[in-house]
Amino acid sequence: MQALIMTSKEAVQKAAKEFLTFVNAGVSPYHVVEECKRRLLAAGFVELKESEKWDIRPANKYFLTRNYSSLIAFAVGSCFQPGNGFSMIGAHTDSPCLRVKPRSKKTSQGCLQVGVECYGGGIWNTWFDRDLTVAGRVMVKVGERLVHRLVHVGRPILRVPHLAIHLQRDINDSFCPNKETHLVPILATAIQAELEKDGASSGNAVDAKTTAEKHHPALVKLLCEQLGVEPDALIDFELCLTDTQPGVLGGVYEEFIYAPRLDNLHSCYCALQGLIESCVGGTLASDTNVRMISLYDDEEVGSESAQGAKSNLTEMVLTRLSSSSSCSSFQQAAPLSFMLSADMAHAVHPNYQEKHDENHRPSFHKGPVIKFNSNQRYATTAVTATMLREIASRVDVPLQDVMVRNDSPCGTTIGPILSARLGVPVLDIGAPQLSMHSIREMTCTSGVLQSTTLFKAFFQLYPTVRAMLTVD
Ligand code: ZN
Repeated sequence: MQALIMTSKEAVQKAAKEFLTFVNAGVSPYHVVEECKRRLLAAGFVELKESEKWDIRPANKYFLTRNYSSLIAFAVGSCFQPGNGFSMIGAHTDSPCLRVKPRSKKTSQGCLQVGVECYGGGIWNTWFDRDLTVAGRVMVKVGERLVHRLVHVGRPILRVPHLAIHLQRDINDSFCPNKETHLVPILATAIQAELEKDGASSGNAVDAKTTAEKHHPALVKLLCEQLGVEPDALIDFELCLTDTQPGVLGGVYEEFIYAPRLDNLHSCYCALQGLIESCVGGTLASDTNVRMISLYDDEEVGSESAQGAKSNLTEMVLTRLSSSSSCSSFQQAAPLSFMLSADMAHAVHPNYQEKHDENHRPSFHKGPVIKFNSNQRYATTAVTATMLREIASRVDVPLQDVMVRNDSPCGTTIGPILSARLGVPVLDIGAPQLSMHSIREMTCTSGVLQSTTLFKAFFQLYPTVRAMLTVD
C-alpha cells in the first residue's frame, strides 16, 4: 500500500498539474465537454452523431455528445462481439453554481445588477466576496443559421458583496442569506455606464422585448465582443457564474489541490485519462469488452433530463453497440458489464471528526474511497467491491471504505440510477475531498494519479477479473 502513496512526488505533481489545466478549462459543463472532446480527438477518437448511422469496428475509438453537456466515449476491444460486456466509468460534468436568469437586468441604488438562479445545492455563502465572471453557451443567429457557441469572459466582472459585520453583528453565529435577494451580483454602477455611453443601462427587464434588452447593455456588449457578433444576433444563452481564481497546488508541501468544481471534474478527468491511457500499449487488441466513459450533465439537480443519467442515452448507446444484423444482445451484455460510478467522497474533517463513523473516516493520500449504503444511496455490492479490490491490488492502488453514520444525511450519485435503469452491476467510488459544493474545494494531489491508475487498470483488467467470478 505504501508503494503508490510514496510514488515519486514528481509523478504525483505532474498528474495533479495536468488535472489543474483540465479543471481550469472546465468552467461550465459545455466547456468540460469541449475539453474532453479536444483530448479525445488528439488521442485518435472519432466523433459520432446520434442522428447518423454508425459503422462501429473492433479496435477503434469513438465518442458522442448530447446537448453538448454530456459525453460518452468508448474504445472497442479487438475481440468484442455483440453480447459481450461493457467496462464503464460514469461521472458528471456539472457542479453547483449561480446561473444568469433569462431576464437578468436589475438596478438597485444606482448599481447595475445581474439576476441569478441557484443551480444545485451549493454552499451559497462561499459565493460572497469572490471575483466572478460568466461562462457557458450562447445561441447566435448568423444569416439563416442558429449557431451554438461557447463563451468565457476571462476577467472578474461580477461580485456579490457581504454586508459588513457592523450591520449584522450575528453573522458569525448564523449567516443565512436569502437566495433570491441577497445573492444578486453587481456588474457596474449606473453612473459609470452613463459615462461609458452604454445605452439605456439602468432599470429592469420588465418590458424588454429583445434579448439585448433583457440584460444590461454592458454585459451584452461584452458577450458580443467575445463572440464577434452584433447584439441582435444574440438569441438565448445558458451562462454559469464562475470564480476567476484558477485552481492551484497548495499546502506547505504542495500536497493539496485548491480548486473549483473538484466535484466532479476530478472524476471526469481521471475517467477520461484512464480510458485514453488504457488504449496505449496494445491491450485493446486482446480485449473482449467495450471500454466506456459516460459523463453526464444535471447530476446535481437529480439527473432527470435528456442528457442526465436518468435519460435513455446510455441504454441507447449500449443497445446500438450490442446489435448485430441478426440480434440485439444488450440483455446478454448487461450482466457481463460493470460500471464504476465515480464521484467525489468526503474526507474526514479534522475539525468535525464526530460527523464521521470512527471506522469509516477516509483520509487524504490513502486512496480512492468505495462508498457503501444498503439503503441504495450508493450502488456498491459485495460482488462489485470484490472485483474492484482484485483490480486495485494488481496495480498497488490502496482503497478506503466509507459509510455514513446512521444519524447523518447521505449524499447519492448516478450509481443507483444507472444500476436500476440498465441492470448493470455498479460500484460507487470517489477520491476524498473537503469543502464539497463550496465555490473552492480541496483535495490531495495523490488522488489524481491513484484514480487514473485504478481506472486505467479497470479498463485493462476487468474482463479477466470478471472471468474469475462464479456468482451466476
Ligand atoms: Zn458529485
